[in-house]
Amino acid sequence: MATPLTGSQLLAALRTEGLVIHEVRDWRRHNRNTKGAWGPMNGVVVHHTATEGTDTSVDLCYDGRPDLPGPLCHGVIDKAGEVHLVGNGRANHAGLGDRNVLQAVIDEEELPKDRLADTDGNRHFYGFECINLGDGQDPWPEPQLLAVEKAAAAICRAHGWGERSVIGHKEWQPGKIDPRGFTMDLLRDRIKDRLSRPPEGPVPQDPATQQQPGGTAPDPANGGGGSGAGVGGGAGGVPGGGGGTAAGTDGAGVPPATPPMPQHPPYEPFPGSEFFRSGARSPVIAAMGERLIAEGCDHYRRGSGPDWNDAHRKSYASWQRKLGFHGKDADGIPGRITWDRLHVPNTHPTPNT
Ligand SMILES: [Zn+2]
Repeated sequence: MATPLTGSQLLAALRTEGLVIHEVRDWRRHNRNTKGAWGPMNGVVVHHTATEGTDTSVDLCYDGRPDLPGPLCHGVIDKAGEVHLVGNGRANHAGLGDRNVLQAVIDEEELPKDRLADTDGNRHFYGFECINLGDGQDPWPEPQLLAVEKAAAAICRAHGWGERSVIGHKEWQPGKIDPRGFTMDLLRDRIKDRLSRPPEGPVPQDPATQQQPGGTAPDPANGGGGSGAGVGGGAGGVPGGGGGTAAGTDGAGVPPATPPMPQHPPYEPFPGSEFFRSGARSPVIAAMGERLIAEGCDHYRRGSGPDWNDAHRKSYASWQRKLGFHGKDADGIPGRITWDRLHVPNTHPTPNT
């Protein structure tokens, strides 16, 4: 099923989308996983806190209240548009909602009105609490709305979801009014636009220490070791290079790094787009579905199966979007490039004789 992102994956996804992130206390191990299930994941729920003040709101979302233990979401989005991570795993944010809404989110179809409170949303949704009083007066600064858009898009991108996987709490649980002050349709339109472009990439983290007004002298606490540029890793991450692997030097007496290829190809070769038509039935399709599920591209009601159907098509479209394809290139009909990258196990391996 759509496996929850790990803390590191969540952090990387948010940063890659260009967000400034604050990691709050022990957020990576802070969750309610002992109280119920976490996953499979199906979407993102957006809230407002009905509070003001960044520090008090972040603390509240981390600690919770006497009647509702924290974490109360995964990330708090402040008015400046910065994200404070407070939880990783099951969190008390979505509560009981409507199973028909969940199904529409899974199918990425238009939402029905939320009427039921019969389904555990804390199991299936990531949650972002946005600091706003929710009184209809408190403004939503553009940097904050932009951060909501980016945070939700980051998770959609990581799972290969479209903008319909993002809902408001008021669309999930009867009686809820949050978020108030913008429409979810507007937010989804913005997310859709964003997902049609590549992520903008990380910004330097911890700008408070890296962009000192007035160009003051370096903080001596950082040590006098020359420029110090990139200390803290914000500038990110040139890969270690691994010592210059010996590509191109094969045959120089160096043993191969990997064992020889088996006689049969490990992955199912691309069967051609015309293979995936109504009425098609094949173990290759079932194997493809299992791989889609493992990649988090899961629009199946009850798992994969050998019969080509709309759930396969939607799940494959998620995979195409996850790889950066859009529009007609993400129509859910397998093509060679995306197929080869999916690594569908060979369903008919020849015996190893
Ligand atoms: Zn809420």
